[in-house]
Amino acid sequence: MSFDCQSCGACCAVFRVSFYWSETTAHPEGTVPEQLVTPVSPYHVAMKGTLQSPVRCVALEGEVGECVSCNIYPARSSTCRSVEAGDQQCLRARELVGLMLV
Ligand code: SF4
Ligand code: SF4
Repeated sequence: MSFDCQSCGACCAVFRVSFYWSETTAHPEGTVPEQLVTPVSPYHVAMKGTLQSPVRCVALEGEVGECVSCNIYPARSSTCRSVEAGDQQCLRARELVGLMLV
């Protein structure tokens, strides 16, 4: 089964997206803009918008299930990159937003 992420966005609107702080621009080699994250532990941060309910990552543009894009796609975290269309996290996210059969 293959899905089009640009007409989905479910995983950006379901999960807490956290990762090691050094992936942010607060570190010389980090890429994720540090103003878009919130500390969640001494060493970890989360994308703003993904700690609340309902979840919606601050970097997500558009309408989930219709047309979306990630404002920081080339600079997104390893956590974001770890989700691939059709994998278990993807299927779970799509199920939670009611896109399982789309
Ligand atoms: S839930 Fe799956 S199809 Fe939807 S944006 Fe994420 S990886 Fe892509
Ligand atoms: S940073 Fe981009 S890919 Fe990662 S959760 Fe937010 S919108 Fe989705």
